[in-house]
Amino acid sequence: MSAPEPRPGIMDIAPYVGGESAIAGKRKAIKLSSNEGAFGPSPRAVIAYKKAAATLHRYPDGSATELRKAIAARHGLDPERVVCGAGSDELLILMCKAYAGPGDEVLYTEHGFLIYPIAAKAAGATPVKVAEKQLTADVDALVKRAGAKTRLLFIANPNNPTGTYLPADELMRLRERLPRHVILVIDAAYAEFVTHNDYSPGIELVDGGDNVVMTRTFSKIFGLGGARLGWAYCPAPIAHVLNLVRGPFNVSAPAMAAGLAALDDVAFTNKARAHNTVWRAWSRERLLELGLEVPESACNFVLVRFPAAGGRDAKAADAFLKARGIIVRRVAAYGLPDCLRVTIGLEDEMRTLVDALREFTKSWGSR
Ligand SMILES: *Cc1c(COP(=O)(O)O)cnc(C)c1O
Repeated sequence: MSAPEPRPGIMDIAPYVGGESAIAGKRKAIKLSSNEGAFGPSPRAVIAYKKAAATLHRYPDGSATELRKAIAARHGLDPERVVCGAGSDELLILMCKAYAGPGDEVLYTEHGFLIYPIAAKAAGATPVKVAEKQLTADVDALVKRAGAKTRLLFIANPNNPTGTYLPADELMRLRERLPRHVILVIDAAYAEFVTHNDYSPGIELVDGGDNVVMTRTFSKIFGLGGARLGWAYCPAPIAHVLNLVRGPFNVSAPAMAAGLAALDDVAFTNKARAHNTVWRAWSRERLLELGLEVPESACNFVLVRFPAAGGRDAKAADAFLKARGIIVRRVAAYGLPDCLRVTIGLEDEMRTLVDALREFTKSWGSR
C-alpha cells in the first residue's frame, strides 16, 4: 500500500509567494509590494462591510444578483454574462478547471502573472510560456504557438509585473488570428488605472465572438484585496459553464456589500486614479534621474531595473530598502531577477522610497 498521491502535475506547482507585508524587528513598514491601492478601501465600502456583520449567519445570495446588476449597469453589460468570484484568481482557476486538462496547453506570456501556470497545472494541463518583445506580449509569437492542443491563452492587459500593455488594435489582431477553439482570457486587473486613449479592457472583444473572456478585480483600484472579489464578463455559454463549476456560495456577503459600495463611490475611484497618474509619473522621473531603468507603466506600480553588478543589483537594493522599513517586490519568479516592482503609494511613501534609492545609488560611487 502506498500513501495517497495527488493527480500528476499537482506536485510540479511552484507555490505562489505574495508580496511581503512585514519586516522583522520593524514596527511599521511602508508596504509597496502588492499593488493594493494607495488610499486603501473607500470609507463607504468599509461601512457596508461592517453593516454586513449583523447578518453573518445568513448565506449570501449565491448568484450575486445585485452586484452583477451594478457591475453590468456601470459598464453597459448583460448581467447574465457576468460571473463573480472570490477574487479574479478564482475565475482564472475555474477557467482552467473547466476548459483544460491533461494533454492540453495553456499559453501565457513570458513575464505574465504567476497564477496562470499554477491554474494550468492544478487542472492537469501544461502551461506554455511564450516569449515577449521588450517586456510586452508578442502577438505574432502567441498566434504562432497556439495549436491544436491549446485551450486557453491568458494575457494580463496591462501586465503585472511589467506594467506594459497591448493597445486595442493589437489585442484585436490577437483575437482575430487566434484559432476559434482557443479561449482568449484578458485579465484586466489594472484597467481602471490606464489613462491611454488607445487602451481597451476588451469588452468589445468579448461581445464580438464566443471565445473571449475578460476578468476584473476589486483588489486593485477599489482596495478590497482582503475581501476577495472579482468578476468575469463572458460569452453566455462560458458564463453558464463557470456557474456550473464554481462553488454555489463562492462570494461572501460582506465582500459583495463592500464591492457594491466601492463601485458606487465614483469620486473615490477617480481620486485614486488621478493620484496614481501623478505619482507614477513623478516616481518614474525621479528613478530615471538616478540612472535606473524604468519602463513606462500603465498600472499602479513601476518596474525598476538595477545593474547586474554585485552590491548594486536588485537583491542589494531590496535589502537596502528593507533596512529602511520599505517593502517592495522582488520579481525573480517572473523571470526578472534584476528588477524590483514598486507599488505607487501615498506621496510621503513615494518620497521616502525615492530618497532611499537615491542614497542607495550614491553609495555606488564610494565603492
Ligand atoms: C492583482 C492581480 C489580479 C487580481 O487578483 P484577485 O484574485 O482579484 O485579487 C489578477 N491579475 C493580475 C495580473 C493581478 O496583478
